[in-house]
Amino acid sequence: MAEECSGNCDSCGESSACSDTKKMMEQQNRVIREKMDKIKHKIAIVSGKGGVGKSTVTVNLAATLNQMGYSVGVLDGDIHGPNIPQMLGVHDVQPTGDENGIMPIVTQQGIKTMSIGYFLPDQDSPIIWRGPKASGAIKQFLSDVSWGELDFLLIDTPPGSGDIQLTTLQSIPDIDGMVIVTTPEEVSVMDARKSVGTAKVLEIPIIGLVENMSGFVCPHCDEVVDVFGKGGGEKAAKALSVNFLGPIPLDVRAREASDKGIPMVTLDCKASEEFKKIVDKIVKIVKKQ
Ligand code: ADP
Repeated sequence: MAEECSGNCDSCGESSACSDTKKMMEQQNRVIREKMDKIKHKIAIVSGKGGVGKSTVTVNLAATLNQMGYSVGVLDGDIHGPNIPQMLGVHDVQPTGDENGIMPIVTQQGIKTMSIGYFLPDQDSPIIWRGPKASGAIKQFLSDVSWGELDFLLIDTPPGSGDIQLTTLQSIPDIDGMVIVTTPEEVSVMDARKSVGTAKVLEIPIIGLVENMSGFVCPHCDEVVDVFGKGGGEKAAKALSVNFLGPIPLDVRAREASDKGIPMVTLDCKASEEFKKIVDKIVKIVKKQ
């Protein structure tokens, strides 16, 4: 292939396959822009490492926005570990489609969602795909799913700063920004700082940082124990000059509910109060931008 592609395949003698691929990508990007233009706010939920509660935060932000009356969609960008269908309580359904594209799955509360998980024969089937194929699936979820008009689309991105995360973040036109999820201990905070670096390189605004698993609520006495320490996320947010959105405690009831597909914000618990405060802040920030 020529070192620098001018886009004029006739003049460089490049194969027509190159030109066709380029045209298809341009067409897909046009469709993505048209679809994303109908969505008022697009927010990526990111984390530097797995297991910090990124999907949990995504689902609960979505459920809180939904409770506040906003129309919400959740795109599960975690191709290799798609947990959103289970967490939203809609894992036993299969998407349908028409000439306009794939219809998103709609939860009982009215949250629209799409995940690679809906296309697997069963929940235990792994996705053994290399980066480009997985990134292609994300682009298809943006271009081929009939999201319709929405107030918010939350995108649960895979952890880290690899292929799929980069494609996701770079494929969403006019993205409002990212919410970074961390736990309070130093190793997680260190990785969250890398997410801040990624945002800067990609020139994507950082809406703020959430400290999940910030203390453990004892199910017997309601006392809070700081299993992973406390305040690491808040300190890092201050040092990095990004908004601290708030702490979410570890709550056994919340985890049990999540496993059953019930977002913790529908329970009467401390975490649910914190989510409401966090969502209020996010709404204010994105509406000001
Ligand atoms: P990630 O998306 O970062 O890999 P998950 O959202 O899948 O992490 O969370 C990992 C596990 O921790 C899940 O079982 C989830 O229910 C649980 N979890 C996350 N946050 C909390 C919390 N605040 N309280 C209780 N359990 C939590």
